Amino acid sequence: MTKVSAEPRRRGHPESNRRVRVRFAPSPTGWLHVGNARTALFNWLYVRHTDGDFILRIEDTDQKRLVPGALGDIKSGLRWLGLGWDEGPDAGGDYGPYAQSERLGIYQEHIEKLLDSGYAYKCYCSSERLERVRQEKQARGESPGYDRQCRNLSAEERAAFEAEGITPVFRLKMPLEGQISFEDVIRGEISFDFDDLEDIVLLKSDGYPTYHFANVVDDHLMEISHIMRGDEWISSVPPHLVMYEAFGWKPPIFAHLPMILDPSGEGKLSKRKGSGQMTEIREFRTAGYLPEALFNFFARLGWAYSGDQDVFSREQAIERFDITDVRPSPSAFAYDKLNWMNGVYIRDLPADVLAGHLTAFLRDKGFDVDPDFTRRVVPLIQQRIQTLGEAIDWIDFFFADEVQPDPAELPGKKMDETQTAEALAAAYDVLAELEPFEQDAINSALRAKAEDLGLKAGQFFQPIRIAVTGKRVAPPLFGTLELVGKETVLERLEAAQKLLLQTTMLEQEE
Ligand code: GLU
Repeated sequence: MTKVSAEPRRRGHPESNRRVRVRFAPSPTGWLHVGNARTALFNWLYVRHTDGDFILRIEDTDQKRLVPGALGDIKSGLRWLGLGWDEGPDAGGDYGPYAQSERLGIYQEHIEKLLDSGYAYKCYCSSERLERVRQEKQARGESPGYDRQCRNLSAEERAAFEAEGITPVFRLKMPLEGQISFEDVIRGEISFDFDDLEDIVLLKSDGYPTYHFANVVDDHLMEISHIMRGDEWISSVPPHLVMYEAFGWKPPIFAHLPMILDPSGEGKLSKRKGSGQMTEIREFRTAGYLPEALFNFFARLGWAYSGDQDVFSREQAIERFDITDVRPSPSAFAYDKLNWMNGVYIRDLPADVLAGHLTAFLRDKGFDVDPDFTRRVVPLIQQRIQTLGEAIDWIDFFFADEVQPDPAELPGKKMDETQTAEALAAAYDVLAELEPFEQDAINSALRAKAEDLGLKAGQFFQPIRIAVTGKRVAPPLFGTLELVGKETVLERLEAAQKLLLQTTMLEQEE
């Protein structure tokens, strides 16, 4: 076997008469992050576009790297983004089990087949020897990797190792020369020299398969038609194709997705210590991004959407998505663009849907809100926020027992403390009389009062705003006063007057 080639397919036409079955195959070794979520999203879009099956397979064979809670985080992240799976954990299906740790017998059976057909061999080398070989090869300037010492052991030599009680690993017997090439839907033909490739381990001495072996066996047994994954996996294709050939299986169609870069466009997107740069789905969720907006934003990372607008619905994306429109060049993750897009989604959502998101979000943050409050507060802030997180800065005074206005900020334009205190007292009197306490009535009453006092509306309203919200910039005043409620508004107006009088007394003493 000197040349293995996946059936060549014309670039741009991933023709296949098989039913489309794709998989997202995360390893539960960390939280769902942007790169994986984008991979899941492209698989999901393609399968919804072609009416195929989306499979969630858990690649948990590296037992040492498992992170407790990671699987739950991956599943809830996918669900939150609206990327439900047709087969897999919690969904069942005819091709299970869907966690590789539950399929050990299957890999055992398949390794025997490769051993029998001469495509795999047992390797008895100790980790110390492997390390020594690695260092020696490095010192000679050779590419690192196993030196194939056990590839041609005689039956006697093997028996001697077995007698020592050494549990072997199983390695793939790679061709020693020639080239291997395959057609990637996104990148065209990709070739590798066998010279540069080593005999990778397929099954470890603990009885668990490696990623490579389990991945190939499962993709075949689960009848996966297309593999869409990050381009960091391109270098695993050659040994995978050798395995497909060894088993006599037809390989799936490959599409390696472009890398996601830092906003600067330099280097892979990563969580840099202290940068505060979000990379995990749960961080975006906690910061108050909407799943609809993230879905839209992720869809644009590498996919040239054929429409002319940046913002499109899930349905439009499903209708138009094709792997052949994914570009090979990496795309930078533009946080500012995401913020803008999230703002667009927030502004466009029906108020009651946004209120639902906001109630859940605030409760998650420990605020004791009732849906009636969020329904009423949404019209006050919907046009002003880009994330639900920003809503908190706009509305936190609603939840405070009391606010702490800065006395230096309270006076209206060209007003001193005494005049301002008088204005607040006048506002108090007029609002105390007002029944019902509703924004239109508040609006007219306060405007009339401003005129009585000979003040401009802005002069009069600013101290009231600061007294009630503690902020110079707050949601529209009259709706805010109505929602804060008469009793609290009056309390805060009174507190602000006291604060101003104290300040004037202190100033006089000085
Ligand atoms: N388990 C691999 C990962 O963590 C899957 C790679 C693949 O899709 O083949 O991304």
